[in-house]
Formats: sequence, structure tokens, C-alpha cells
Amino acid sequence: MMQHNPETIFPDTLDHALALDRDDPLARFRERFHIPAHRDGSDAIYLCGNSLGLQPRSARGMIAQELDDWAALGVEGHFHAAHPWLSYHELLTAQTARLAGALPGEVVVMNSLTVNLHLMLVSFYRPTAQRNAILIEHMAFPSDQYAVDSQIRHHGYDPEQARIDVAPREGEHCLRTADILERIDREAGRIALVLLGGVNYYTGQLMDMRAIAAAARRHGIAVGFDLAHAAGNVPLALHDWDADFAVWCSYKYLNAGPGAVAGCFVHERHARRAELPRFAGWWGHDKESRFRMGPDFRAIPGAEGWQLSNAPILSMAPLRASMDIFDEAGMTAIRAKSDALTGYLLSLLLRRPHPVWTVLTPADPAQRGAQLSLHVARNGRAVFQRLAEQGVICDWREPDVIRVAPAPLYNSFADAQRFAALFHDSVEQCCG
Ligand SMILES: *Cc1c(COP(=O)(O)O)cnc(C)c1O
Repeated sequence: MMQHNPETIFPDTLDHALALDRDDPLARFRERFHIPAHRDGSDAIYLCGNSLGLQPRSARGMIAQELDDWAALGVEGHFHAAHPWLSYHELLTAQTARLAGALPGEVVVMNSLTVNLHLMLVSFYRPTAQRNAILIEHMAFPSDQYAVDSQIRHHGYDPEQARIDVAPREGEHCLRTADILERIDREAGRIALVLLGGVNYYTGQLMDMRAIAAAARRHGIAVGFDLAHAAGNVPLALHDWDADFAVWCSYKYLNAGPGAVAGCFVHERHARRAELPRFAGWWGHDKESRFRMGPDFRAIPGAEGWQLSNAPILSMAPLRASMDIFDEAGMTAIRAKSDALTGYLLSLLLRRPHPVWTVLTPADPAQRGAQLSLHVARNGRAVFQRLAEQGVICDWREPDVIRVAPAPLYNSFADAQRFAALFHDSVEQCCG
């Protein structure tokens, strides 16, 4: 697919964008989704897939199937539904493993993201008097900060001492991999766990997870990733990267609906570690003997052994709808379009620079996914509001950032071209 960078000469016209859409092998996937309408009835320019992905048209039928089976079968649905509920979550295993770059036994869908993060911290944050710190990125997503701080306190340590924040350098917005690696090397003697976002929610920066995991593991430090903004956005190879664990939600790029059931990865080297502390529930118990209802917990080997409760079928159904689409399109093609589309949008934006705004997201396509974070130094809220009035649905982060995410499964080059024109116009109107 055609690559765009600021140096490439191509016309900034809707016609050119429509030509790119005609050439786009993934263009046909747009009609698999419900696109919200602007008040004039036209399709909104939906650039908020990093916050809540759009609804696959197939989701409703998949939920209806389970409602129908419940109505017709009651409790018998556990065994006799078209997709028996007892093993329903297993329908997602192979697809989830492909998405995460993992072995089937290393992944499970369960709970929500922050719950899974806590479950993983229980098992993999094992502080000692010497080594009790968690290294996390400065300005991590609030839920991650709260989870980390509360776990540190839970073990009787003080987040002031036991939390190491890696921050961008003075005057920079993104982290440098070298700085993270240097910090891990320097502070290894007191670090128990490294926990980083795979793609930073604020800047859109894609981290070098392979290098970070390798540095941590070299020092015997546990390493986990929060992939909320990475899952379904960028290719993942969690098994090869050698992370101990990862967690993600499924309602952002994965389009599985508000509050959708989340994902979890546990590396196979932990699959049979019965001595590993964990918070257990009956659904993590060995499947053969689960219904003997005995008092002694015996974990299912692998990620499934961290399950607590029986599966939320109505929440898993739309995830199946979404994962079918990911499988059909393929992550390689999705990433290729994502690169082209985000690069195209960036190059259009940069054609009409204005001193009031800058891009926080790395310019290097290898260090970003499908998100651009636009810092607007003055009147940013007015710019955002004006965009909304013209049918753009994107995201405002206090105090001064507009985030836009062209999601390759349903956004078009025409969406990007229209957005760039509206953004330039709004900046001129609101910022002079
Ligand atoms: C979206 C997001 C969350 C949200 O957590 P939930 O438990 O799904 O509400 C947490 N962490 C990060 C990094 C996120 O981007």
C-alpha cells in the first residue's frame, strides 16, 4: 500500500483520498460496522476508536443467539446452547492467541482490564525488603497508577519510595527506550516489577516491548505490559518478547463494546507454577474436577488458571463478532493500512502548520499506532468543540490535547482528508 510521509507529493483533495480508498484492500470492512451519524444524517468522522471502538454489525446477532438459547434452554444452555456456555470462553482462545502473539495456553479472556491487572500484580509483584519497587511510566493511565500504588501499600510499602516513574526528558513528550533501559539497569537492585503501557494512551507512543522485557528479565525483574491501547492496534509477539504477563481491554481498538470482557496473557513458563500466589476462584480450577466442588484449589495450567468466575456470555458474544473480523482482515494488513492512513493524516496536517499546535506522537511510524495526539497551546477546547459541531467525534484530554485515532478497520482516507481540512479551518477560526 502507498506510504505517505511529509515529503511525498500528493494532492490534498477529497478526490485523491477517494482514490486511495478505492485502492484500499481493507475498505470493504467499513460496512461491517455501524458508523454513528452526524446530525445532518451523513456519517460522522469517527476518530475515537482508541476510546470506544464501533459496533460490528454482526455483534447483535451473536448476542441474540445467546439470549435465544437462554430463553429456550435455561440452565441447559451451559451444555446444549449452540455454543455451550460451559466452554464459551474457549471459542476465543485461538483468535486471542493470534492477536497477542501467544500460545493458546498463555491467553484467556475474563473480567475487565483493571481487575486483570490486579490479579497479575498479586502473582507477579512479589516485593522483598531489598527489591520492592515498581517501575512505571510517568503519567500512566490513572487506573494503572491507582492499581500500582494500592498494591504497593497492600504489601506495606510506600509508593513514594517504591514507585519509580520514568519520565520524558525536559522539553520532550515521549519516552526514550534508551532512558528506560538505563533506568532498569541502574535501579535493578531495588526493582521488583516493570509495568509499562505498550502504547501510551496520552501520546500514542508505541514502546519497544521486546527491548524493555529483555532488560528486565536480564536482571530477574518481572515484567508486564498494559496493552489497552495496543491490542488490535499494533502487532504483538508477547511470547517471543518474553513478558511475564500482559492485560488489555477489548472495547478500544478491539470493538467489543462498552465494558467488554478483557484479555490476559501469562507466559507459559508460569503455566504450572502451583506455588505462585494467586487470588483463586472456581473457574480457575482444574476442569475435570471443578464440579466435584472439593475444598482444594487445583489451578488449570496456563492463563485459564487465573479465572475467577464463570464467563459473562452476553459480554463475550460481541467480542467473538469482533475477533472474527480481526481474523478475516489479518493483523499484518491492518497494520499496513494503519501505517498508511495515519501517515497520510499526519502529512496532511503538517502541510498547514500553525504555531499554536504540535504533534506529541512520535514522527517515526515504528513508534506509533493509529493515534495522533495534537497539542493545542491555546483555545484547544474551542477547536475541539468546533470539530464536534462539524461532525467529528474525537477525544479531548484536559488541559490541551486532542487525540485522533484513524482506526484502519472502519476509517477511510476520506475521513482523514476531511478531518485535516476541518482541523485547519478550526485552528484558523479559533486561534487566529
Ligand atoms: C482504557 C484504559 C484502562 C481502563 O481500565 P478498565 O479497567 O477497562 O476500565 C486502564 N488502563 C489503560 C492504560 C487504559 O488505556
